Amino acid sequence: MQNDGKARFIEALRRFAAAFRHTMFPEGYVCLGCGKELPSRYREQSLCPECIESLPFKTGKCCAVCGTPVYVGGLCRRCSAFAPDYDRAFAPFYYRGIARKFVLDLKLGGRLYLAGYMADYMADYARGIKLRFDVVTAVPSTAKTVRIRGFDHTELLAKAFSDRIEIPYLKTMNRLKHKLDQSKLGFSDRFDAVKGCFETLPGTDLNDKSVLLIDDILTSGATASECASVLKDSGAKHVYVLTFAR
Ligand SMILES: [Zn+2]
Ligand SMILES: [Zn+2]
Repeated sequence: MQNDGKARFIEALRRFAAAFRHTMFPEGYVCLGCGKELPSRYREQSLCPECIESLPFKTGKCCAVCGTPVYVGGLCRRCSAFAPDYDRAFAPFYYRGIARKFVLDLKLGGRLYLAGYMADYMADYARGIKLRFDVVTAVPSTAKTVRIRGFDHTELLAKAFSDRIEIPYLKTMNRLKHKLDQSKLGFSDRFDAVKGCFETLPGTDLNDKSVLLIDDILTSGATASECASVLKDSGAKHVYVLTFAR
């Protein structure tokens, strides 16, 4: 009888240990792009060979300021007519395919572990182009958005990036409101629509520093430009923008 009890206890312990092991170290790794189980030699990249092949790396000629693809060198039509307040914007990927999936899975799907994975690519890219800056900051979300989502995806991205690149992260701004729906606005109206959406935190002194502003994607660049304007009002000498995709 006593032995029966002991055997049951050992069995329960064994099952508990197995469940714990499974939680900590899931059986088989899966591809972050398509969810297929990964052969062991691809586990370090966390992507299967097909997904690695389809990563939409940004290549070809780009505008020297905003990074949009151009046919000839120099500036794009928009930057020639209307210079943004940031100095230059960079991104390792086009916003499509797996890169788009990562952005949406992080922001809307709450797959927070993707922040570190995305930051790996951004850090490799920043090292590759020898981007120089003194401090890392992020385009903030409103307090209400952070409360609803339970996290601030750009802050997670910026902190993970800062850890990898070993340059300090600094929270510099609050977002007071969200821009109005911009989908029906023309290009220059988008820049007007974000005026007054951001303020620097009290005591923020960027005193001649070069700031790297992190966001997940850059579309019109109006948000990044407004943040750069606010950061420069607080003393930043240069504001560079690095997004995961554009
Ligand atoms: Zn895959
Ligand atoms: Zn441009």
